[in-house]
Amino acid sequence: MDYMETPLEDIVFNVSPDVIDSIKIEASNLSPQKEKEIEDLSQVIGNKFIELYGEFMSPEKQAMIKEIPHKILVLPSEGFIGYQKAWMKEKTVNNPSTQGYFTIMGNIIVVDENKAQIKSERMSRFGAKETDILSGVIAHEAAHFLENQDLSLMFKELGASFYAKNILSKLNKWNLVSRNDLRRVLIYKKLVEKIGTNVHEVFFGKDTTDESKYKIYGYLYNIRDELDKIFR
Ligand SMILES: [Zn+2]
Repeated sequence: MDYMETPLEDIVFNVSPDVIDSIKIEASNLSPQKEKEIEDLSQVIGNKFIELYGEFMSPEKQAMIKEIPHKILVLPSEGFIGYQKAWMKEKTVNNPSTQGYFTIMGNIIVVDENKAQIKSERMSRFGAKETDILSGVIAHEAAHFLENQDLSLMFKELGASFYAKNILSKLNKWNLVSRNDLRRVLIYKKLVEKIGTNVHEVFFGKDTTDESKYKIYGYLYNIRDELDKIFR
């Protein structure tokens, strides 16, 4: 259980656009048209982040939003797992429901195309489109891309679920959330009600004071039994 700091990896680097392009050529199945569609979708999501939360971001984070469309790798499952094994020292994805991840190693968002397809096929009878499912994954991982990396893992997960849900509902997109995800959203919502919009400033790194951070951690500590159930 992680209520405290998440230590950063010693080596944090950016994968250059050239490397991203070569990975795409090697491992991606996407047509140029689909590639463009995902880029546009990411742009729309990024713009929504600015519109809703830009005022709570440091200038650096605001600038990072423009990078989002160029930070997304949509790969078939094989490549999705392969990339992670090859590039990340972080734990491998063993949760079968994981459709995407953000890696500090490389500073990149990776999405599992096959899982998104399966999920959207399953949800299509309710009217969900594949882009809806992809939007959910991209919005969640974009929040991780924009978060202050030095914060507690648990706080960052609560926030990513909350921001993704809000972004999707503002875009009128079909949003598929698990029960656990919904619980995370509600806890974060309560946290914002209790502490105020300063929570956003902490999440997006505009406020990096210990005082603000520990106010949030204190609140989370008080509801640790509830959090244990969600993060178990
Ligand atoms: Zn997450």
